[in-house]
Amino acid sequence: MYKNILRHPGPTPIPKKVQLAMAEDIISHRSEEFVELYRNTTNRVKQIFGTEQEILLLPSGGTAALEAAAVNTVSPGEEVVVITVGAFGDYFVSICEKYGFHVHKLEKEWGQACTEEELAEFLKPLKNVKAVFATYNETSTGILNPVEKLANAVHTHSDALFIVDGVSCIGGAPAEMDKWGIDILVTGSQKSMMLPPGLALVSVSDRAWKAIENNNTPSYYLNLLSYRDWAAKGMTPNTPAVTLIYGLAAVCDLIEEEGFAQTVARHELMKNMVREAMKALNIGLLTSDEYASPTITAICTPEGIDLGQFMKHLKEKYHLDFAGGLGHLQGKIFRFGHMGYCFPSDVLQAISLMEAALQDFSYSFELGAGVKAAQEVFLAAHRK
Ligand SMILES: *Cc1c(COP(=O)(O)O)cnc(C)c1O
Repeated sequence: MYKNILRHPGPTPIPKKVQLAMAEDIISHRSEEFVELYRNTTNRVKQIFGTEQEILLLPSGGTAALEAAAVNTVSPGEEVVVITVGAFGDYFVSICEKYGFHVHKLEKEWGQACTEEELAEFLKPLKNVKAVFATYNETSTGILNPVEKLANAVHTHSDALFIVDGVSCIGGAPAEMDKWGIDILVTGSQKSMMLPPGLALVSVSDRAWKAIENNNTPSYYLNLLSYRDWAAKGMTPNTPAVTLIYGLAAVCDLIEEEGFAQTVARHELMKNMVREAMKALNIGLLTSDEYASPTITAICTPEGIDLGQFMKHLKEKYHLDFAGGLGHLQGKIFRFGHMGYCFPSDVLQAISLMEAALQDFSYSFELGAGVKAAQEVFLAAHRK
């Protein structure tokens, strides 16, 4: 018998209270009970998005919600800018290309963020951009793009909509959709939201609704106008993921109990603990501190170690499951997920097991150095 320790950037561990909530008897999605559950729950999610707009629930992965954001706002042949700083930005490019949008790709090296100045310069010569797409948290590299500033560049230099993929950080990172000027914000259930896969959450600004009403790209299952019409009745157009919505209500309980500001602070703290530990172990980090993600850290292969063997060993001997690198970063980095139902105690555990494996691989370091560095960050935060 053993306990698997899942430290991936999604799917992530599910709190017991959320699991139990999902064990509730199923109800009809056309019942009064459902309407109450739907209205109550989506209202409570608003603070996590930083919006007064409705939260729409799609029975899908995050990708379908990204596709919905694209297909509902832009028509084939129209111009869009896609900011891509890694694998998930590239998926956004693929979605836009599939629909025949004219894509201007603002591409950064993997491990870098896109800055406000870069976006501003990129937008200046373009005249007819309908939408700018950005990844808030690039899960493949552990970069948190400065979306508040990017929104500013979009609205200063264009009339475009600003559409943001928040899939791996909403629920763990600050988000002020309305205040920052994000027109569509999307997330999925299985990352920072502490739920199983299968539910996507989308919110749309008034400006974006106007564009959606005037857009004529056909869509059926992903038609956001139909989600809006049904949301007005406290329902969804088709059968929703009722069980996951029970779970979402329990997630709201947990976040409200902690206080969302504290939830965000906990993620920030875990990020700092992981980073300081790796520095103390002389292990490289893919990103700078400035743009480091609060939910996932990309860690370079420790010197002299075969990463595939190391990760296999961690999983088989210590039951610690990290995620590998994607694309050309495969074999070069691994990814330490610290999102959702993850606490400083879990971070200390993972670092300590990682040190055990480093010792097994005869990596040269002082046993405990990483744990100590993380503890110091932890203790300093609690002394405040
Ligand atoms: C995981 C992820 C997605 C895709 O979500 P699925 O639920 O797998 O469809 C999109 N964008 C980002 C940033 C992600 O981390």
